[in-house]
Amino acid sequence: MGLVFPHVATTLAVIGSSDRFPVRRVYCVGRNYLDHIREMKEGDERDPPFFFQKPADAVVSDDPVVPYPPQTEDLQFEVELVVAIGKPGRDIPVPRALDVVFGYGVGIDLTRRDRQRHSFKNGLPWEVGKSFDRSAPCGPIHPVAAVGHRLAGAITLAVNGEVRQRGDLKQMIWNTPEIIANLSASYRLEPGDLIMTGTPAGVGPVVPGDRLVATVEGLTPFSFSIGPKET
Ligand code: MN
Repeated sequence: MGLVFPHVATTLAVIGSSDRFPVRRVYCVGRNYLDHIREMKEGDERDPPFFFQKPADAVVSDDPVVPYPPQTEDLQFEVELVVAIGKPGRDIPVPRALDVVFGYGVGIDLTRRDRQRHSFKNGLPWEVGKSFDRSAPCGPIHPVAAVGHRLAGAITLAVNGEVRQRGDLKQMIWNTPEIIANLSASYRLEPGDLIMTGTPAGVGPVVPGDRLVATVEGLTPFSFSIGPKET
């Protein structure tokens, strides 16, 4: 049986291997660092984090140039730890949650902030603000076997050499096991799923020509550039 047209799966490089990680779904956690909730001045600090999704082909990697997207005047970066799922599971309890993790990476939750704020004010879905083409630049996946579990450590983002975001994974409201437990209560996780775990304070705008470098302590830094406005 053939396909009526070819479909190329999105994949990420795996550190220490020639195999690539095939991306299935991209789940994102909203409002998972208190200092970011405070800088946004939206919502209630006591509200728990929540989930939204980006399409798998929003993931771009291998030092991409991301064109400045249409329909925004305020494209912003959010640096996030990315958890790569390697085993299936539903209703996974916190003490067993790390068993399904294949590895970790660094990713950026690119956001059309003007569109996200419009959606928020009007009670509309976040898709246009969050789930657009190439909205999830991601670095390579580091297997747990090589780097262990990343539950603490610095997370940073620099634009043109200037550090704009600096936090610590310990500041997450829901840590990685809690995220997996919560997410798997609503969705069956499958190998290939990615979870973007939320961003610390310091988010801000980028313009064409900007060079971004994102880091999580213990992982390879991930760099990419913003290209000219998409026409
Ligand atoms: Mn985010």
